[in-house]
Amino acid sequence: MDKAVDVVIVGAGIAGLTTSLGLYRLGVESIVLESWDSLRSTGFALTLWTNAWKALDAVGVGDSLRQQHFQIQGAVVVSSTSGLATSETSFHEKGNHEVRCVKRKKLLEALAKELPTGTIRLSSKVVCIEESGFFKLVHLSDGTILKTKVLIGCDGVNSVVAKWLGFKKPTFTGRYAIVGFTESKDSHGYGTKSIQFFESGVRFGCRPCDDKTLYWYYTWVPSSQDKELQHNPAPLKQFVLSKVEKLPAQLRAIIESTEPDGFMSYRLAYRRPWELLWGNINKSNVCVAGDAFHPMTPDIGQGGGAALEDGVVLARYVAEALLKEPSEEAKEEATSPTLSSFFNMTQDVEMKELPAPSNSASSSPPSTLHHLKEIAALIETGAYAREVRRIMRVVRLTMALRRKLNATVLASFLNFALTPGSELHGRLFSYLPKEDEHDMDVDTATSGTQIVAKHSLPELEIYCYLLVLIFLIDQKRYNEAKACASASITRLKNLNRRTVDVLASRLYFYYSLSYELTGDLAEIRGNLLSLHRIATLRRDELGQETLLNLLLRNYLHYNLYDQAEKLRSKAPRFEAHSNQQFCRYLFYLGKIRTIQLEYTDAKESLLQAARKAPVAALGFRVQCNKWAIIVRLLLGEIPERTVFMQKGMENALRPYFELTNAVRIGDLELFRNVAEKFSDTFNSDRTHNLIVRLRHNVIRTGLRNISISYSRVSLVDVAKKLRLDSANPVADAESIVSKAIRDGAIDATIDHANGWMVSKETGDIYSTNEPQFAFNSRIAFCLNMHNEAVRALRFPPNSHKEKECAEKRRERQQQEQELAKHIAEEDDDEF
Ligand SMILES: Cc1cc2nc3c(=O)[nH]c(=O)nc-3n(C[C@H](O)[C@H](O)[C@H](O)COP(=O)(O)OP(=O)(O)OC[C@H]3O[C@@H](n4cnc5c(N)ncnc54)[C@H](O)[C@@H]3O)c2cc1C
Repeated sequence: MDKAVDVVIVGAGIAGLTTSLGLYRLGVESIVLESWDSLRSTGFALTLWTNAWKALDAVGVGDSLRQQHFQIQGAVVVSSTSGLATSETSFHEKGNHEVRCVKRKKLLEALAKELPTGTIRLSSKVVCIEESGFFKLVHLSDGTILKTKVLIGCDGVNSVVAKWLGFKKPTFTGRYAIVGFTESKDSHGYGTKSIQFFESGVRFGCRPCDDKTLYWYYTWVPSSQDKELQHNPAPLKQFVLSKVEKLPAQLRAIIESTEPDGFMSYRLAYRRPWELLWGNINKSNVCVAGDAFHPMTPDIGQGGGAALEDGVVLARYVAEALLKEPSEEAKEEATSPTLSSFFNMTQDVEMKELPAPSNSASSSPPSTLHHLKEIAALIETGAYAREVRRIMRVVRLTMALRRKLNATVLASFLNFALTPGSELHGRLFSYLPKEDEHDMDVDTATSGTQIVAKHSLPELEIYCYLLVLIFLIDQKRYNEAKACASASITRLKNLNRRTVDVLASRLYFYYSLSYELTGDLAEIRGNLLSLHRIATLRRDELGQETLLNLLLRNYLHYNLYDQAEKLRSKAPRFEAHSNQQFCRYLFYLGKIRTIQLEYTDAKESLLQAARKAPVAALGFRVQCNKWAIIVRLLLGEIPERTVFMQKGMENALRPYFELTNAVRIGDLELFRNVAEKFSDTFNSDRTHNLIVRLRHNVIRTGLRNISISYSRVSLVDVAKKLRLDSANPVADAESIVSKAIRDGAIDATIDHANGWMVSKETGDIYSTNEPQFAFNSRIAFCLNMHNEAVRALRFPPNSHKEKECAEKRRERQQQEQELAKHIAEEDDDEF
C-alpha cells in the first residue's frame, strides 16, 4: 500500500520538535505535523530550569538560547499588604540552578532551525488515526493519509493521539491564567530576579527574558463573570490591574505597559497522576509525550522542561529500536536497502488526496490489484517485524488470487511495488505481454487510494518474481518462465533473510516446475543441489525440505532411484515445517521403497501421504492411492472396494480397480487384458514395471483357487487353467506349484510320477479350536460395545449438563421471585 514513513510526530510544539531533533541527531529522520500554518508560540515565554537546559544541551541548542536569555539569579516574594519583599531565594545558593525565562518563539525556532528542510509540515492537522496491520495511518484534515511505523503524539493538552490511546480529557483545575509580555526599546532595569506576589486565590509573577523583555503571569480562581474573559481578551488589562491593587507600582507599571496583543488567557488543566499510571502511555508503535501525556499546571514551571526531557529520552529509544534493524541486515545482505536509506526516502513521500475513512467503503468489491497491494502491505509488515507467519499468509493469499492474475493487474502491481526504470522493473515488465499495455492503469476500486510508493524490500522483489513466474506458467509460456525463474534464483542466492525463505521455497517449486514442463529437469539438478547446500548452511529448514523434495522428484523423473535414496538417507532430517512438503516427501519415499521391494514400509509411507494430504489436493491423493493399491497387491492384500470409490477418484482409479479384480480371482488372461487395455495410464503413472511384478501374484492366487477346488489335478490342467502360454507350460506349472508349496501359499504335494498336484484334505474345522476363538472374539466385541454405551450414559457431555443447570437455575429464580412477591403482598396486607 502507501509508502510508510518511519516516524510521524504530531505537533510542532516543544515536545514534538525536541523529539524530532533528537531523532535527527541520532540519524533518524521524521515528519512533524503541525496544525497551525506557522510555529505556534502562544504563551510568549516560559521558565526553564536546570533539567530543561540539560535536555536542550543534549539536542545541541542550549548554548544559542543561553546567549539570548538572562540567567535568573533568584526569586523574591512580595507582601500583599506592605508591598515589600518578604523573602528572597538565590538559585545559586540553593543547588546552583540554571533558570532562564525563554521566549517560546526563540525556543521553537532554535529547535526547528536544526531540522532538515521538509521535516515540519505546517497546516497539517491530524484528525484521526487508523491501524493498518503493523503500521498506523494518520489521517489529516485535508484528506491526506500518512502511513507510519512509529507515531508520537506531541499534540498538547487536547491531544488526538492521547484520545486514540484511550486517555480521558485532562481535568480542569478550576483556575485560569493570564500571561503578558512587554518589550521595551531600552533596558527595562528590572534586574535578573523573579518576583512573585501572592494573595488569596491570586498569584502574580514577573521575570525578565533578556535586557528588554519582561514576561509576567497571573493565575486566579474565577467567578462566573470572570470566565467570559477567556473568550474576550480585550478587557484583560483592566481586569488584571483591578485584581492586583496592592501590587507595588513598579510591577503594576509592567502590566500597564503591556500592549493589548501581549495578553493571553488560559484555562488550566492537568492529568491526574493515577490516570498516567493506569492509562496506556503507548499502544504498540504509538505513544504520547509532553502535554499530550502529562499536562500540568504552570505553578511548578515544569511542563516545558518535562516536554524537553520526554523528547530526548523518547528519541534515544525510538532511534535505538529503528537503527537496530539495518545494522544486522547490512551484515546479511550488502545490496539490501538499509534503514537509513529508507529514512532518506521519507523526504520525497508523496501525499495524495485520499477519501476520509468513512467514505472509503466503496460499493464495488475490492479488485485483484487492491488485494495485491494489501498483500504487499502484509509483506512489509512481516519483513519489518520479521514475522515469518505473515509471509506464510502472503503465500496462502496469493494462491487464492492466482486465477485472477492477468497482465494488466500484474503491470499495475509492478508499477506500484517497484521503482519504474529500475533493472528489476524492466526485466519483469519484459515478460508481460505488450498488447495489454493500453489497459495498464485500470484499477477502478483503488485508483483513488493509491499513494505513489516505491519499495525495494527484498521480500517484495521476490514476491514480484513469484507473481510473474506463476503468471507465465499459467499462460503456458514455459521458456519465459524458465528465464524468469533462473533470474529469481540468482537473486535469491544473495539473500539471507528468514522472511524471504518462505517466498523462496515457493519460487524453488515453480523454478523446478518450469523446467519439468519443458522436459529439461536434468539441467537444474546441479543448481538445486547447490541451493540445498546453501539452505542447509543458512539453516533454512523450509528451503531444505522443499529442495530435497524437488531433488527426489528430479531423480525419480529419470528413474534414478539409487541416487534418490542416497540423497534422502544423507540429507538432514528435522521436524516438518510444511505439511505439503512432508506429504510429498512421504510419497517419494514410498515410491523409492516400492522399487527397492520394501513393500511394507512403502505401503505405510504411501498411505500416510494420502491420509495427510489436504482434501483439495485430489491429484496428489489419487497418485498416492494408485501406488498404495499396487503395493498392497504386491503384498498379497486385496484393497477394499471403498478405496476405489473415494469421492472424485472413481474414474482415475478405474484401471486399478479392474487390475485388482484380475489379481483377486487369479485370472492371468484377464490380468493381461487389463494391463494391455490401460497400458497408457500405467505408463504415465509409472506403475507399469510394478504391474509386471504382479503377474506372479495373479498366478499364485489362481493356483490357490485350483488347490481349494480340486483334491487332485494334473499339471497339464493346472497350466491350462492358469493360461500359461510359455514353450513348455507343464514344466512351468510344475515349478510354479513347487514354489507355491515351499512358500506355504498352498497346502499340497506333487506326484511327479503321474504329473499331478494333490491337495491335502481339509480336516473337520469343528474338531479344532477355531470356532471357539471366533465365537470368543464376537462376544468380546459385543461386551465392549455394551460397556462403551453404559459409559456414555454415565458421563453425559458438559454442554448438556450446563443446559440442564441453566434451566434449573431459571426455574429456581422464578420460584424465588414468586415467593418474594407473595411475601411482599402479605406484608402489604398487614398495613
Ligand atoms: C500559562 C502557562 C504557563 C506555563 N509556564 C511554564 C513554564 O514557566 N515552564 C514550563 O516548563 N512550562 C510551562 N508551561 C507548560 C508548557 O507550556 C507546556 O508544558 C509545553 O508547552 C508543552 O509542550 P508540548 O509540545 O507538549 O505541547 P504544546 O506546546 O501545546 O504543542 C502542541 C503542538 O501540537 C499542535 N497540535 C495540536 N493538535 C494537533 C493536531 N491534531 N494535529 C497537528 N498538530 C496539532 C499544536 O498546534 C501545538 O503546536 C506553562 C503552561 C501554561 C499554560
